[in-house]
Parts: sequence; structure tokens; C-alpha cells
Amino acid sequence: MRRLILPSLLFMAALGVGLGLKYLPPAWDPRTPLDLTAAPNALTGWKLRWMALRPEACLAAFSHSGLAVSRVPDRPSDTGCEIENAMRMPSELRMSPAGPVATCRLAAAWTLFERHGLQSAAREELGTGIAGVRQMGTHACRNVNHAATGRRSQHATANAIDIAGFTTVDGREITLTRHWPGNSAEARFLRRSRDAACRYFGTVLSPDYNAAHRDHFHLDMGGWHACR
Ligand SMILES: [Zn+2]
Repeated sequence: MRRLILPSLLFMAALGVGLGLKYLPPAWDPRTPLDLTAAPNALTGWKLRWMALRPEACLAAFSHSGLAVSRVPDRPSDTGCEIENAMRMPSELRMSPAGPVATCRLAAAWTLFERHGLQSAAREELGTGIAGVRQMGTHACRNVNHAATGRRSQHATANAIDIAGFTTVDGREITLTRHWPGNSAEARFLRRSRDAACRYFGTVLSPDYNAAHRDHFHLDMGGWHACR
């Protein structure tokens, strides 16, 4: 009789998990594509990381969210600079230069950041929303830190974006170079934006990291986790 206890418990546990998954709301179901327009929850980061293993889950997230994307054809490379599962960066903001090439995962993280982080940081610190973003590039076939040797940068595969600043709805220009130092409302907005970005991107480097980043945020979806 005692030999039946463990299998019975395992069966009951499996049944419980099965029933639990069946009645989970979509936002809490690990099998449902990530809704990029919905408020993030504890599964959001997990679903973003899952996209690294299952690229189709990323495109499914955009279609599940009702967001159209402009795909970019794959481009193989012998030098570690391939383009795969890429699109023109989707944005509700006026991005300049417009439409940089981005991996689907980078685009997904950006979409979450823009909708569930950047705007609330601006409203709370600046009393207005963000209308535009100035970016310094996503794709460049180069190594980390522009070094002659070493590993490829996440920029080599369009898996990173550099952000120089923002334009508010009421027309203020906010740049990392001018506004990061100090404790102005603009500085607090930039710090809160950096912290919000850390919830979605794998690596976030700000002027706090080193002098090479004094004029931009580096946001990427590589495997290394950093929030500096
Ligand atoms: Zn960068």
C-alpha cells in the first residue's frame, strides 16, 4: 500500500498543474505569447528570455499584441555579423533616424520599455510624455568597444541600440550628455528610464558605467546581464 503513496501524490500534483494551466488567465499562462501592450507581470521577463530559444515566439508576441511589423530579410555572414529574425524597429515615438534594423527580441524589449517604463518616468518627473527618441544606431559589424580583437558586439547582429536622448511632447530636448549629471528633473527622468530599461533588456549601460557611455544608453539582448 505504501508503495502506491508516491505515485498517487505525483499523479495528483500533475493533475493539479494540468488543471491550473487550463484555467490560467492568458497573461499568467506561460504558453500564451507575450502581450507587449499589456502591463508586465512576473512572466514577462521569462517570456522575453524564452524568445532566445524559440525565435517564433517573438513574432507570435507581436501578432498576439495586434502590432504590425516590417520584417527585414535574413542576411548570413561569415564574420559573425548575420541578420536573423529582424525587423524595422517598431515605435510609437518619432525615432530619428527612423526605422533602424533590430532583432525581433530587441524590438520586443523596446516595445515594452517604451509603453511600460519610459512614458511613466517622463510623466512623473517631467509632467509630460515623450514624443521622440534620438538613436545612435543598432547594427554595426564590429567588436565590443570597437576593439581590433575580441568578441563581437551585440551591435554586430542588430541586437543592441544606442540612445542619445529624447524629445518631450512639449518640445524639450533631453540628452544624456547635457542632462545626466546633477539632480534636475531631466536627470531624474533619465535615471528612471535607465532603471525601467533594466526590467526588459539583458544589458543596460548608462553614463554611470564608463566614459565611453557618457553620451548614450546602450541597450542589448545578449546573454550577459548588466544594469549599470
Ligand atoms: Zn551600444
